[in-house]
Amino acid sequence: MVSRVIPVDPFDLVIFGGTGDLARRKILPGLFRRFCSGQMPAEARIIGAARSDLDADGYRTMVADAIAEFGGKTLAECGQLPAFLEALDYVMIDARGDQGWAELKTKIRANVITAYYFSVGPGLFGDIAKRLNSWDIADADSRIVVEKPFGRDLASAKELNASLAAEFDETQIYRIDHYLGKETVQNLMAIRFGNLLFEPLWNAQYIDHIQISVAESVGVGGRGAYYDKSGAMRDMVQNHLMQLLCLIAMEPPSKFDPDAVRDEKLKVIRALQPVAPHEMVRGQYGPDGDDPSYREDAGDARSFTESYVALKTQIANWRWSGVPFYLRTGKRLKARTSEIAVVFKELPHSIFEESGDQTQNVLAIQLQPNEGITLDVTIKEPGPGGMRLAHVPLDMTFAETLGDDAEEAPDAYERLIMDVIRGNQTLFMRGDEVEAAWAWTDPIIESWVDRHDVPKVYEPGSTGPEDALALLHRDGRKWRDLAP
Ligand code: NAD
Repeated sequence: MVSRVIPVDPFDLVIFGGTGDLARRKILPGLFRRFCSGQMPAEARIIGAARSDLDADGYRTMVADAIAEFGGKTLAECGQLPAFLEALDYVMIDARGDQGWAELKTKIRANVITAYYFSVGPGLFGDIAKRLNSWDIADADSRIVVEKPFGRDLASAKELNASLAAEFDETQIYRIDHYLGKETVQNLMAIRFGNLLFEPLWNAQYIDHIQISVAESVGVGGRGAYYDKSGAMRDMVQNHLMQLLCLIAMEPPSKFDPDAVRDEKLKVIRALQPVAPHEMVRGQYGPDGDDPSYREDAGDARSFTESYVALKTQIANWRWSGVPFYLRTGKRLKARTSEIAVVFKELPHSIFEESGDQTQNVLAIQLQPNEGITLDVTIKEPGPGGMRLAHVPLDMTFAETLGDDAEEAPDAYERLIMDVIRGNQTLFMRGDEVEAAWAWTDPIIESWVDRHDVPKVYEPGSTGPEDALALLHRDGRKWRDLAP
């Protein structure tokens, strides 16, 4: 297949927090990759805005180092680094004061798209939004991009939404959930709504249950103190797992349009049932030889924050009535892997009496480490030996099907930033979606606090606490293997 990279229109992108970890690790290498691919036009400008005392040349050096460290081999070979660095500029700015704003204003061009990426803590979102307007820097067509975490409960999310809404229209606000920028996540929508094959089966009549697993093999490490204030439910379930669940469960939107898609996602979140205490399991990883336990990483020997959570929820509507959705995510698990598995029901009757195990069809959507989709089907085992059945995966892995194009597929962040420039909000969370997600999450977290729930200790490198296995065993089901 021939790559079809369509350059976006010229833009000025200001990255508040442009010297921070996220900017150096993801945003700037991602933008450089888009530059190398021809998607970011040479007339575009990227302006770092942060507290560090740097000039434009100092910033270029910092960005070149970040690209060398985090950009990977393909980028090192792109050969266009000097041209990309030319597009960079820098302003030393104080989000809470007057410093830097007048200078920033002089750097923003008229007649190009303007976007402001808030790659800073949420405590600064309101300050930056306010100053962008009071200094008359942003206009009615400017876009603002905000990072997670978007609040830590419903009340704080509402406050954040209100502070942004006071300055910008919802059509200008892009709330990032980088899981939505993954190639496979979008492919999930193509598979569901671009084929006749799946949609007729996509309901309680044919689907037995759904599993969504996001497992990490590493612990919280140096981020322990920060992570301890949130935990797996706030850090992963309320946003990433919830978004994946929405894409699996939503009704077909009338068109692939930002609000049509987000309206359907919102309906799913609002139909999510509360989770009863016996339907959830929390865990903390224990020590492993010399490796610290979660509590040691968190620096709090009495921490009750979970590094693992598994739960069962249901969606109260006609399509999903009675179909359990099992969600789990955790750190220091057996493998780094993210998967959505749609497990179909067993055959109502088998004609193959002596053929061995029956199996269920499973559509498995892998998000990491490798993106791809497989459909487990039953076939006849080739060769003599009678009618024996074998279960094989039909592999729709992109690298093989699409050849070179898949290898060039942009990483989630760069794809989302290009969507911001194009003005397409489909893959960004709307304010009401985020609030609805917190409205479902809050009672779960409150119930742990009320019950003084103590997370179960699990062995590092395992699949999580034993109780999580029981969550499915009770229903006559089991978790899929956490294979890398
Ligand atoms: P960081 O601490 O590494 O960087 C913070 C940046 O903000 C720095 O550039 C700093 O100069 C700037 N800054 C801080 N106070 C400022 C002020 N008063 N005025 C102007 N600039 C100021 O943080 P980070 O890890 O890059 O994270 C940024 C945001 O992205 C956070 O909200 C974080 O939760 C979120 N996030 C980070 C990651 C990640 O991998 N690092 C992943 C997802 C989300």
